[in-house]
Amino acid sequence: MSHREETFESRRRFLQLTAATALGACLGGWSLFTRAGDLPHLTITDPTAKAMNYVEDAGAANNALYKSGSICANCQFYHGPDVGYGTCQLFPGKAVNAKGWCTSYTSKKA
Ligand code: SF4
Repeated sequence: MSHREETFESRRRFLQLTAATALGACLGGWSLFTRAGDLPHLTITDPTAKAMNYVEDAGAANNALYKSGSICANCQFYHGPDVGYGTCQLFPGKAVNAKGWCTSYTSKKA
């Protein structure tokens, strides 16, 4: 391969890498803009929510696993504000109430 061909090949790879990086940055940025406010709220009638005994208000939890003070906002699976709605890794595509709770609760302190 001549020096000219090597230079061309090097530039081609650089441009491919740059294009792939730009695409990745765009997709990553798009996912950051998917906020809990854009998602439907998880309801207690959702089959998975039912299976995990999800409640919108932890104070209403009627479950032996519930410990006082446990709410979505301080669960390690929760991401979002302390008031209102955020996302939960266990319920992709739905927003959970910061004051909610389910049997998969895991303290952020754990
Ligand atoms: S796993 Fe945690 S954040 Fe998700 S619903 Fe249950 S208590 Fe809330």
